[in-house]
Amino acid sequence: MPNKKENAQANLENLYRIFTIPEAPDSTLGRIDQAITDNAAGFLQEHVVALKRELEEIEGDFADSHIPEQPTFVSEYSKFVTDKLVAQSVHTASPGFVGHMTSAMPYFMLPLTRIMTALNQNLVKVETSKAFTPLERQVLAMLNRLIYNHDDDFYTRWIHDSQSALGAFCSGGTVANMTALWAARNKLCAPCSDFNGIAQEGYLNAMRHLDCTGLAVMVSRRGHYSLGKVVDLLGIGRDNLIKVDTDDNNRIDMRHLRNQCSRVQADGKRILALVGIAGTTETGNVDPLDEMADLSQELGCHFHVDAAWGGPTLFSDTHRWRLRGIERSDSVTIDGHKQLYAPMGVGMVLFKDPAALSAIEHHAAYILRHGSKDLGSHTLEGSRPGKAMLVHAGLSIIGRQGYELLIDQGIARAQNFADMIEAHEDFELITEPELNILTYRYNPAWLQKVIASADGDKVNEINALLNQIIRMIQKYQREAGKTFVSRTTLEHARYKGTSVTVFRVVLANPLTTEDILVSVLKEQCELAKDESLQELFDQLRCMVQAA
Ligand SMILES: *Cc1c(COP(=O)(O)O)cnc(C)c1O
Repeated sequence: MPNKKENAQANLENLYRIFTIPEAPDSTLGRIDQAITDNAAGFLQEHVVALKRELEEIEGDFADSHIPEQPTFVSEYSKFVTDKLVAQSVHTASPGFVGHMTSAMPYFMLPLTRIMTALNQNLVKVETSKAFTPLERQVLAMLNRLIYNHDDDFYTRWIHDSQSALGAFCSGGTVANMTALWAARNKLCAPCSDFNGIAQEGYLNAMRHLDCTGLAVMVSRRGHYSLGKVVDLLGIGRDNLIKVDTDDNNRIDMRHLRNQCSRVQADGKRILALVGIAGTTETGNVDPLDEMADLSQELGCHFHVDAAWGGPTLFSDTHRWRLRGIERSDSVTIDGHKQLYAPMGVGMVLFKDPAALSAIEHHAAYILRHGSKDLGSHTLEGSRPGKAMLVHAGLSIIGRQGYELLIDQGIARAQNFADMIEAHEDFELITEPELNILTYRYNPAWLQKVIASADGDKVNEINALLNQIIRMIQKYQREAGKTFVSRTTLEHARYKGTSVTVFRVVLANPLTTEDILVSVLKEQCELAKDESLQELFDQLRCMVQAA
């Protein structure tokens, strides 16, 4: 009998295999279009970008605004696709592409997407989707269970109940966040005896009815920019998206949050929602969700958790605790195209209360009749593809334990990379990984020594120059196309008062090896020697000598 550890190893190897395109077509899925697969595989090897061409140059291929007058042969068009699109796209699945939240996909997503396209179901109503509607409701129930873990009776009762929904599918985290706060807004401003509700009467009457001067949404400074769009669209206004300071670990500062809530209320505004983040986009940190749940209870407001990135951490027995309190939220955003490894264009919002989505219900006579099982009555989008199938496939084929392995390995890999950065004398770790995201910067040993003993103004001057250097290294690395990290700008406790430009690394691709991470650092050290950067380094040396 193999022991437990060997078992895990065997599963892991099997799991990794699904991220590469198989040599022979999979007999069960069968209908892989081999031509597309071959082309993609042939091109998508090795390099992040196939050819070094400037975007401005590529724009030349797309400069004609005339709609072609004459039909063309498909074969001719295929040539355009191969030469102008495929060859000029970004190899997001490359194990060296560790800069963004878009990474490798299990191979089965490709044939499934073709099947989905071939069936071309429209999830707006049962008449055009049949089995896809119950499938979508099942997937929503599965993810609802992952978060809220209601009992079996609950799911039996609600899974296919036409009057309610355990969540909604949409195109991504942005629309998921939008849907959550839309439902929250309409619930707060619900119809009653002397008011027909905000959906009917609009924002102005709603504020009169609530006897307040506006609504506010509270989120940390690390909140995703999609929330800005949400408050804009909901009429709340960007000024009323209150960005709360974070602690040294990029988590919302509860004391500051309480102060801001009091201030907003003193201004005569109503707090619509607290938004907690489970996996900030820039640094991968998780807000103290339990404490935020306490506060939202106290305030009587909606508690939304943006777990677009970090939600799947719940699959892990080892790391689930990091999201403690998420089960007390009213709604949660999870992106399918991030750590569920579905292709672009899948997001979900889950609600604790199956009745919550009725706040945004919309019916139309010819479609979406009352009491029908049509899903379109409580989604922002109208016509929608059957992408639930892709999430269902991931959950079925990879399974809870498979996702757990992916999550655990990603977090371990990030920790390992953080150790490598700390051990390297010419790099500085800026944010420790809590999940699988970290930030760091190039900061040569001699300069680190100086910074350690320099006064605040001097450090600011040094950082300003170093920021320019980091920007250039990141740019050169992207252009060279072997490996890719992204960059962002952060305020950091170590450097109060200035922001530092950092490399940002997201470790979600299971095929990213330690060797690749070693080569990322090595390449950055090489790029730092580039001729064009020496003037900046000279300035730094002068500054240091003057000190
Ligand atoms: C990616 C992300 C979003 C936005 O999701 P899209 O799918 O890009 O619309 C929102 N919040 C967080 C925390 C994210 O990481």
